[in-house]
Amino acid sequence: MNIPESNLPRVVIIGGGFAGINLAKTLANKNIQVVLIDKHNYHTFQPLLYQVSSSGLEPDSIAYPLRKIIKKHKTSFFRLTEVEQILPEKKQVLTTIGHIPYDYLVIATGTKTNYFGNKAVERNSMPMKTVPQALNLRSLILQNFENAAIADSKEEREAYLNFVIVGAGPTGVELAGAIAELKNNILPRDYRDLNAEDMHIHLLEGASRVLPPMSEHASKKSAHFLKALGVNVHCNTFVKDYDGLTVTTNSDLVMQSETLIWAAGVTGAPVKGLDGNALLEKPNRYQVDAYNRIVDYNTIYALGDIALMNTPKYPKGHPQVAQPAIQQGKHLGKNFKRLLAKQKLKPFQYFDKGSMATVGRNKAVVDIKKLNFGGPFAWFLWMFVHLVFLVGFRNRVVTFLLLQFDIRCRGMDQAVE
Ligand SMILES: Cc1cc2nc3c(=O)[nH]c(=O)nc-3n(C[C@H](O)[C@H](O)[C@H](O)COP(=O)(O)OP(=O)(O)OC[C@H]3O[C@@H](n4cnc5c(N)ncnc54)[C@H](O)[C@@H]3O)c2cc1C
Repeated sequence: MNIPESNLPRVVIIGGGFAGINLAKTLANKNIQVVLIDKHNYHTFQPLLYQVSSSGLEPDSIAYPLRKIIKKHKTSFFRLTEVEQILPEKKQVLTTIGHIPYDYLVIATGTKTNYFGNKAVERNSMPMKTVPQALNLRSLILQNFENAAIADSKEEREAYLNFVIVGAGPTGVELAGAIAELKNNILPRDYRDLNAEDMHIHLLEGASRVLPPMSEHASKKSAHFLKALGVNVHCNTFVKDYDGLTVTTNSDLVMQSETLIWAAGVTGAPVKGLDGNALLEKPNRYQVDAYNRIVDYNTIYALGDIALMNTPKYPKGHPQVAQPAIQQGKHLGKNFKRLLAKQKLKPFQYFDKGSMATVGRNKAVVDIKKLNFGGPFAWFLWMFVHLVFLVGFRNRVVTFLLLQFDIRCRGMDQAVE
């Protein structure tokens, strides 16, 4: 892999997500050789993927080159490759471009889409976990509008204009809101030969309310915002089957739709090679101690979504959202410095900064400890927080302008591929 040999201890980080880049930044120029590995050459800001899918943002606003993040770190290296296996007995990582020895290994590979074993849904639905997937979804939405314009029958047109989103967590709610904005603001203007009334957005949720991880208040408020935008919300509803056209559910609800968007859950994306108690099968996450060290492995750590740290406050592990990943990445970086200085390590403690979700333009819901609110102020707060954590100054400026002024009509100029 052409990584120079050095006398410095080598930390290999698998994954340039929130956890991986924050660890790499904290270790910059600290007498440690850092090798960051990712199967993409960019960091993805996943919270804004739905904006790419719905033509609100260009992909380069939310994807940032990993090499740029470490370009000023003299002892850091990046390699674009997929890790296939860990060989703990040899202290090596096997990748598609060769193997690399490590002194310390950090697994920060995040999650992948969970279809809960439903092969038909996996084959026929659209996931939204990566930039290419978000772009595929954008193309499909625009292609559907074009197909609807030339459809021979009402039924055919309706199937093209029926958008079914499964999972009313933050991703599903945000996407439903954004597609509803397309229906309400863009369709009447750019597709004059289509009737916006023929377009329907259905949001299906297995739980009894939308945004199940958030407060009752956030749930009620977002359901109200969704209704006002024209989204049909179906709670206590599971998808049983989808053949690419017919959606069947656990209730009487059966729909014809060319588009089923799967936002119903994620599962860990572990790497082969560790055994024993390291990987907990059900959540597919590595069991780690309070220092993010994987149980039974002294020199291998896991961070972020892929790590499961049981604490009295979080007996099932921290929520799989950006903040634990960011905080764990920074914390492990500081602990590595302590380790090499032969100082005592500090256990990780999660500081919950709250959660939020946006519902269409200018509206959001926010839970910060016992404070729950929604509306335009929540949206400003949502935008501010997202801009702060977005990597790269240019990305922040462009994203601010596009979100603030909603220049979504740009999306309609996109090529359909
Ligand atoms: C659509 C969507 C919306 C979201 N919205 C929010 C939100 O609004 N707020 C919030 O807090 N959280 C949100 N999340 C969750 C948040 O993005 C994750 O919790 C966070 O990204 C976890 O960070 P991570 O570093 O653990 O993993 P990730 O950010 O997923 O990074 C994992 C990295 O590992 C790489 N990788 C994986 N396997 C390999 C391999 N074998 N070899 C090489 N590289 C590999 C991947 O390419 C990726 O770059 C959202 C997630 C999604 C999918």
